[in-house]
Amino acid sequence: MALIVQKYGGTSVGSIERIQNVANRVIDTYNQGKDVVVVVSAMGKSTDHLIQMANDISDNPSKRELDMLVSTGEQVSMSLLAMALQQKGYQSVSLTGWQAGIKTEAAHGNARILDINNKRINGHLAEGNIVIVAGFQGLTDEEEIATLGRGGSDTTAVALAASLKAEKCEIYTDVTGVYTTDPRVVGGARKLESISYDEMLEMANLGAGVLHPRSVEFAKNYNVKLEVRSSIEKETGTMIEEEVSMEGNLTVRGIAFESNVTKVTVHGLQDDINTLAKLFTILSDQKINVDIIIQNTNGKEATDISFSLDSEVLNQALEVLSEYQPELNYDHITYEGDLAKVSIVGSGMISNPGVAAKMFNVLSSNGIKIKMVSTSEIKVSTIVSSTTMISAVECLHEAFELEERKTVEV
Ligand code: ADP
Ligand code: ASP
Ligand code: MG
Repeated sequence: MALIVQKYGGTSVGSIERIQNVANRVIDTYNQGKDVVVVVSAMGKSTDHLIQMANDISDNPSKRELDMLVSTGEQVSMSLLAMALQQKGYQSVSLTGWQAGIKTEAAHGNARILDINNKRINGHLAEGNIVIVAGFQGLTDEEEIATLGRGGSDTTAVALAASLKAEKCEIYTDVTGVYTTDPRVVGGARKLESISYDEMLEMANLGAGVLHPRSVEFAKNYNVKLEVRSSIEKETGTMIEEEVSMEGNLTVRGIAFESNVTKVTVHGLQDDINTLAKLFTILSDQKINVDIIIQNTNGKEATDISFSLDSEVLNQALEVLSEYQPELNYDHITYEGDLAKVSIVGSGMISNPGVAAKMFNVLSSNGIKIKMVSTSEIKVSTIVSSTTMISAVECLHEAFELEERKTVEV
């Protein structure tokens, strides 16, 4: 029988009423003769509340216990949904990540799914059950609960869809699809009919929180048919798929943005052949992720290197760099916080050389200073001051003609 995986996010299961609504939508699909596996997130903001409690009780909660705590959020919503379905006369069973056979790597708080043994899910489906699975969690080889990173329930859903060879994976959320940019921030944002895996992956990695980046990776690698749509409105959502027809001559499909970026500059490093290697090995050994890197050599012996990172890891980076000062032999370090990354994304850019130039012109003519830049075949990212982030997104959205097209009345 054809199988559909549906995932409902936090807002969509945020109250008893919302869970009833989800139950009705699941039943609609089941009554169309489909097998249904449902992945749920924790109710509303309950994951945030659990993390807050951990921080209230401990300065530095251990990652293992934090996973034990936050994984409970999804167990609340999964059992309530199963009860709602049973109450409506449907057979349903809820499963934690480990009961559903989800194996992860041993990395608390940010684990990747390694494998899924879907025997138990298949058994319950064969008995006519609607199977509900807790999102965001799995079990390591050491039989420890590990979570997949914030927003990770999307990845549970797509990984299950791949493993169960589902006809489709539907991500139900609080917006009606993937938009040209966050519709909660830019009023004129337009819903996309479709977007390619590669474009969606860039958007998700560059800050568009609508999908967990790893879910898009899974969808691309296993060719999962993926749709993002509303849990309330009935309208069709956005398809994420391999090939997407260009709408008109659109070179830019969307704009992503994220704040909390800091730029660090290491001044007066010796310009040796292995300087870069040494500096970034020290940072990567501490699992500090750096993003954009700029080297300023001016023909002299010393060089300055700037890089951007998530502001959350700034102190850790400063500590390790100061510890290694004698080895790196730099002069001093400066940093600039309160920055943001604004990126334009679109596969049409590959064949369109003027896109980056246009972006820089638009930003400069709107008085927005660009502090760093990085490009790939299908995106251009700029680092700007956070105070200018929203206006940067708005003026780029307009300049690249992404806004909702008004219907002309005749
Ligand atoms: P869920 O709890 O259902 O997983 P999320 O909050 O994780 O929901 O994701 C949905 C949110 O993603 C929307 O409310 C919206 O603010 C945000 N978002 C960011 N960028 C986009 C985009 N390009 N298109 C749609 N939504 C976006
Ligand atoms: N409940 C988790 C979170 O809030 C996972 C998810 O919602 O996808 O991040
Ligand atoms: Mg989400």
